[in-house]
Amino acid sequence: MAKLFGSSGVRGLANVDLTPELACKVGMAVAAYAKAKTVVVARDTRVSGSMLQEALVSGLLSSGTDVYLADIVPTPTLAYATMSMHADAGFMLTASHNPPQYNGIKVFRTDSLSYVDADQEAVEKNVKEQSFALSDWRRLGKTIPLNAGQIYIGMALKAVVLKKKWRVVVDPGCGATFKVAPDMLKAMGCKVTALNAQPDGHFPARKSEPTAESLSDLANVVKTLGADIGVAFDGDGDRVAFVDETGAFVNFDRSLAGYGAYALKYSGGGMLVTNVEASMCVETMAEKYGGKVVRTKVGDIYVSEAIKQSNAVFGGEPCGAWVHPKIYYCPDGPLSAALMLKALEVENKSLSEFISEVPEYITRRENIACKNEQKYSVVNKIGVALKADFKNFTDYSTVDGVRLALKQGWLLIRASGTEPLIRLTVEGESVKEANDITQKATAIIHKQVEAELK
Ligand code: MG
Repeated sequence: MAKLFGSSGVRGLANVDLTPELACKVGMAVAAYAKAKTVVVARDTRVSGSMLQEALVSGLLSSGTDVYLADIVPTPTLAYATMSMHADAGFMLTASHNPPQYNGIKVFRTDSLSYVDADQEAVEKNVKEQSFALSDWRRLGKTIPLNAGQIYIGMALKAVVLKKKWRVVVDPGCGATFKVAPDMLKAMGCKVTALNAQPDGHFPARKSEPTAESLSDLANVVKTLGADIGVAFDGDGDRVAFVDETGAFVNFDRSLAGYGAYALKYSGGGMLVTNVEASMCVETMAEKYGGKVVRTKVGDIYVSEAIKQSNAVFGGEPCGAWVHPKIYYCPDGPLSAALMLKALEVENKSLSEFISEVPEYITRRENIACKNEQKYSVVNKIGVALKADFKNFTDYSTVDGVRLALKQGWLLIRASGTEPLIRLTVEGESVKEANDITQKATAIIHKQVEAELK
């Protein structure tokens, strides 16, 4: 059997890879693994959500587990409700930012962290060996409706108190934040205009992944209305993206670094956590406020885990998944949006002014063809050549692929998870630096690929 769980839980084409049978088995397997008495189940707006939820819940009930049904809410709302209800697990039916034909099951623990590799392996084993703990008919579980949105907004109102009546345009992209995000911002006193706030699992308005292209309507509305800020989320609401008051899309790395610096400033230093792909502007900003940066593998669970382990002040990935460990460990789009407003209020700055303090470096990305059978071996062996050719490197890391930090930039070489490619990411302080590093690194990769073929 192929591996069920990836870094974001079970994910696949609905009714092809992720069938009701599998959803039911995952329910039974987690119930057995977590010895779950109560769990919380929620879903995003995807068309297949209801079908998969019925099957998952059936598996849970058959195991004697009581299920709080939160209906359609964002992933962070589900994770927070799981913690708040002291439930033994939380299940989110979502494929995050993926196209509408996909779905997935992401599982959370009581402490709001999603299942780590060890948990996932144990559940996979239960599914494979059909090692379930079905209950006697007299002790089957029951379902109980849960207003998770209310619990979540209650938390957010305590965490963020705004003085200014911010004019905010919200774009849930027809996803799971369609109600919670506008309701939360209104409750905080913002003047909210909502765009694409009708729940629709076909995602007709825009791609569920927030990007500069997919948020062009949001940018136009912010500009036309003269609003202070535009905020958007991915399909399940664990990512946030911003448009500034001029209608410009804010680069993800710069918003992450800017907010991270603010968090450090008011905690008197500490740790920031991000993944190996994030811009070095995170380090530049952290150093300004006496902070240090820990870099993890790509995947929000690795960031959340490292935040907990290193007792970090803040952390996130440059896709907009930000974690606020003072509250909990799940990446949270709507809460990040509210906390960003608070930061602007405290700093008395517009979003464009806030972001302008973060340096803008030059990024280059190249894909080098390499057979699937050889790509991992190439990446494993390339460190020696890299270190020999970039003698002035300041840090060498193999936490995810190979990452070399240099004086005026860095490079990252990873094997593509899905395609016969090796991916090179480069950043430089200037165009010249970025081009020089890219040229040199590309030549080294080509040489290693050829050597592997011999
Ligand atoms: Mg997501």
